[in-house]
Amino acid sequence: HDYTKDDIRQMVKDEDVKFLRLMFTDLFGTIKNVEVPITQLEKLLDNKLMFDGSSIEGFVRIEESDMYLYPDLSTWMIFPWSSERGKIARVICEVYTPDGKPFEGDPRNNLIRVLGDMKKAGFTSFNIGPEPEFFLFKMNDKGEPTLHLNDKGSYFDMAPMDLGENCRREIVLTLEEMGFDVEAAHHEVAPGQHEIDFKYADALAAADNIQTFKLVVKTIARKYGLYATFMPKPLSGINGSGMHLNMSLFTDKGNAFFDESGELKLSKDAYYFLGGLLKHARAFTAVCNPIVNSYKRLVPGYEAPVYVAWSGSNRSPLIRIPNARGNSTRLEVRSVDPTANPYLAIASVLEAGLDGLKNKIEPEDSVDRNIYRMDAEERQESHIKNLPDTLHNALKDLAADEVMKGALGPKLYQSFIEAKNLEYDSYRTQVSGWERDQYLEKY
Ligand code: ADP
Ligand code: MG
Ligand code: MG
Ligand code: MG
Ligand code: MG
Repeated sequence: HDYTKDDIRQMVKDEDVKFLRLMFTDLFGTIKNVEVPITQLEKLLDNKLMFDGSSIEGFVRIEESDMYLYPDLSTWMIFPWSSERGKIARVICEVYTPDGKPFEGDPRNNLIRVLGDMKKAGFTSFNIGPEPEFFLFKMNDKGEPTLHLNDKGSYFDMAPMDLGENCRREIVLTLEEMGFDVEAAHHEVAPGQHEIDFKYADALAAADNIQTFKLVVKTIARKYGLYATFMPKPLSGINGSGMHLNMSLFTDKGNAFFDESGELKLSKDAYYFLGGLLKHARAFTAVCNPIVNSYKRLVPGYEAPVYVAWSGSNRSPLIRIPNARGNSTRLEVRSVDPTANPYLAIASVLEAGLDGLKNKIEPEDSVDRNIYRMDAEERQESHIKNLPDTLHNALKDLAADEVMKGALGPKLYQSFIEAKNLEYDSYRTQVSGWERDQYLEKY
């Protein structure tokens, strides 16, 4: 929506909004809220609302303590679940420095910057259709999540097997009330696992939508006594949760990936973009799969990709070209999981694709057989590399890739790598139950 300041003032009056929730996203993809009473509305609309950034992850330096929130009025919405004390509206903000410059440590500002580069390269929009998956766990009587799954259903199962169905239906209805165009919602392969797909949008709106989506899912699940988690692999032995990203580039003439006369009806640009994605795939993995647990999902046997390859027919590789053509022509990157900061993840795949376009990077041949049935030698003959197998290795690839440095900008790039290395170190120095089970009595 293209709301004006007056539209906002009118909605505040009509709906009796009492609180404003100002949202932005930190380095780790966590939504940050600053809640202010409605008396601050005029200040907000004038870009004069300040907050202390020094306590926010990735906003570390003391000089960064005074920050301004500039509201993006198009993201204004009133929460359907507002409290008894009056309605709450939220607006997503850009973080600005006191001298009026976009703060480069703000992941959303960074995506806006990369989208600007895309426009200079002649494109009008980068469309993203995400497929986020999540688990619903039961909560105990203290309101804490347990590891008890909410049902024993599986792919496309219907009630009464699927007890999460009512909860999922309310999530969908709430999303629709909030303006989402939900295309599909279904039970996933694993018990307790669900997927909700909403219509693709321009990259910035899509990233905002992903953040709002997670908030809605968690909020509604609680109403049902359930805990929704986007942790990629909460339980070993069953499928993990991913967030496939479907993507396409548009010019003012339409979908730039479609060419009626091209090979597989794909344009030259589609192949170059694909070439860039494949070239930088190992490097963007740390951004798209940013936590230790992400790598427990990227293992063979659970429908998650493990190898850097693409296919026009097969569902197992990292990048799939779905059958749809015309304006729906798209590439689907299947490694991404929902713990990724969507602003950073989308910036990194876009920059990788733009590098492919700029340098005319030809992709390797497609792999249309089941890669999981090939042995290491066959994979080598077909030039198929592995995705990084740990956060540690993924960070090494990220740290060695100049294009990814450009995708995140030097500041976010450096703070991301530093913070994630610390996270990995903290994990590495723990002794796990698995180790004690294996070794304590054996040695
Ligand atoms: P899958 O077959 O992988 O399960 P889904 O049907 O669940 O795929 O999701 C497809 C996603 O792709 C939806 O979010 C849809 O809006 C999106 N999509 C459709 N056309 C485009 C496009 N041109 N660019 C980007 N995303 C698109
Ligand atoms: Mg899907
Ligand atoms: Mg589908
Ligand atoms: Mg799925
Ligand atoms: Mg998919």
